[in-house]
Amino acid sequence: MSLTRTTCPYCGVGCGVLAGADGTIKGDPDHPANFGRLCSKGSALGETVDLEGRLLAPQIDGVSADWDSALGRVAGAFGDAIRDHGPDSVAFYVSGQLLTEDYYLANKLMKGFIGSANIDTNSRLCMASSVAGHKRAFGTDTVPGVYADLEEADLIVLVGSNLAWCHPVLYQRIAAAKEARPDMRVVNIDPRRTATCDLADMHLRVAPDGDVALFNGLLSYLAGHDHFDARYIDAHVNGCHAALAQARATDPADAGLPADALDAFYRLWAQTKKVVTVYSQGVNQSACGTDKVNAILNCHLATGRIGTPGAGPFSVTGQPNAMGGREVGGLANMLANHLDIENAAHRDTVQTFWNSPTICDHAGLKAVDLFDACAAGKIKALWVMSTNPAVSMPDANRVAQAIANVPFVAVSDIMARTDTGDLADVLLPATGWGEKDGTVTNSERRISRQRAFLPAPGMARPDWRIISDVAAAMGFGTAFDYASPAEVFAEYIALDAATRPFGRDLDLSLFADADYAKLIPQQWPRDNARFFADGKFYHADGKARMVPVTAPALDHAGLTLNTGRNRDQWHTMTRTGKSPKLGAHLAEPYLEIHPLDAAAIGTAHGDLVAVHTDRGRAILRSLVSDRVAQGQLFAPMHWPRQTARGGTVNALVAPLTDPISGQPALKRSNGVSVKPYIA
Ligand code: SF4
Repeated sequence: MSLTRTTCPYCGVGCGVLAGADGTIKGDPDHPANFGRLCSKGSALGETVDLEGRLLAPQIDGVSADWDSALGRVAGAFGDAIRDHGPDSVAFYVSGQLLTEDYYLANKLMKGFIGSANIDTNSRLCMASSVAGHKRAFGTDTVPGVYADLEEADLIVLVGSNLAWCHPVLYQRIAAAKEARPDMRVVNIDPRRTATCDLADMHLRVAPDGDVALFNGLLSYLAGHDHFDARYIDAHVNGCHAALAQARATDPADAGLPADALDAFYRLWAQTKKVVTVYSQGVNQSACGTDKVNAILNCHLATGRIGTPGAGPFSVTGQPNAMGGREVGGLANMLANHLDIENAAHRDTVQTFWNSPTICDHAGLKAVDLFDACAAGKIKALWVMSTNPAVSMPDANRVAQAIANVPFVAVSDIMARTDTGDLADVLLPATGWGEKDGTVTNSERRISRQRAFLPAPGMARPDWRIISDVAAAMGFGTAFDYASPAEVFAEYIALDAATRPFGRDLDLSLFADADYAKLIPQQWPRDNARFFADGKFYHADGKARMVPVTAPALDHAGLTLNTGRNRDQWHTMTRTGKSPKLGAHLAEPYLEIHPLDAAAIGTAHGDLVAVHTDRGRAILRSLVSDRVAQGQLFAPMHWPRQTARGGTVNALVAPLTDPISGQPALKRSNGVSVKPYIA
């Protein structure tokens, strides 16, 4: 059986997979992300490629249809809305599951041909705060480091990142490095005692959203104990005084940690030159997510611990192609190829390159705002690609109502029934993992191929082609006349070359002459390149910025809810829900609750509880454990309404967002009540 070299469709680690049509799945020993390793989700991929429940033909109003009719209906609805209400009356909501070629074309259609920037993505829920923090500090959205830094560091600080469950192969790499180098230290900063604590020398049970206080305290400690790198700051950093003054005005006790724990952590950080700080959703999914990111970046910039082997801040992405989406501008506040919507020269260059009739000239609606606009009747046509916002968005019940309120909704997906697809006027059958070709970019800027090893089922088409077909039906066919994803990729690389004079960080020149069919996993700008070792940043003066950040006032009264992920499920379970092996891990929705809170409520381990907020209700199995602190609750967000008992978890969450990044705050919801469930 010949095996096809492809990439895992789940998390941002981006592991290489060898896959066969007979269901064989192996880790690719030659892929530099995983060197043959796979986690439970990746290993079970063979159980998820059957055709049960698949959408195999277009549907119009619930009735199977041919492609021409479906495309005509989508193009007509979008065209009518644009004609009658203007380009900002339509929107795309897309996904980090899309391949880079899909993302590039969706972005091109919306921004260059429809003329709106109303394209946002579920990656807004994943790493938008890191993007905003990077731009404030570095002048660009640049991830400085590489995975090898995790093996070269003497201290790894994990912040809001349950790597053991959410980026398991990176966890395995750190575990192997730690075994080989017993002097290596790992600190885990998380309000919960997660599986990642098994690896940690120190667990800091920070208060929810206490991270700014914690890292402002670290900055203050570093300054007070003469650990700033004055030479590096003088040559390469602005804003140090203001950031330090703000840090000194912060009480580190607001991190919710004992003074001796803070002191031990600060001393360890200060005395270790090679520090990597890894962070993900616990940092990003917060109403102060961007400030948390900059609080971390400030400490690395003040000490010059950035861009060198084993040192630097490292944002790891959740979605498999969140990074590829960023690269092609698949967010409402970006153009393409790391160019800026607000910059007229950038807009003109992209419009000229695309030879497009228009170009968006202002940012579009970010995810939460986009669905608010749907609820308010401002969006007349919506196309959701490859994701399930009716389950995954905060305030999910209201999001479902908002989608239902849009006069025309198209959904492209691999499955016939999803909570979002059930609200669609037109369903467009997309090919899934194993059936489609393209590229993805992982958290360390490594571009890898996804390759097909199965035939397209029924009438399913790859997303890049569905987007091109809709564009053609809207009258833009000449600019969307692609025979293959290789042609789309070549255009993306050519756009990068055409915009090189703008001096962005993104540099894809390595891929200019690449043979797409044989493309091997490669980082941009080149393998194992770290950014900022030379002290050159992308602000106009070439310097980085330390940003003054204020720790939020925290209300510790009542129960707070943190929603997140399980080890063996992915997003809303469209694919992982098919695997009996994965389902055996944690078989039903649950609520982690501290023993004292459980006793106060009158519930025991294994009982059902009703969880309420003023947004929604969910019936969950109580899992009584001191893995959560008293007053804090945790529930996984995966189960869709079809299989959830009494409501989906993110329906409980208020749609608060970070004011800079627009990323929703899914990690700390107040106003939660829990009661024993009586049927
Ligand atoms: Fe897939 Fe992530 Fe697991 Fe690697 S670590 S196999 S990319 S889910």
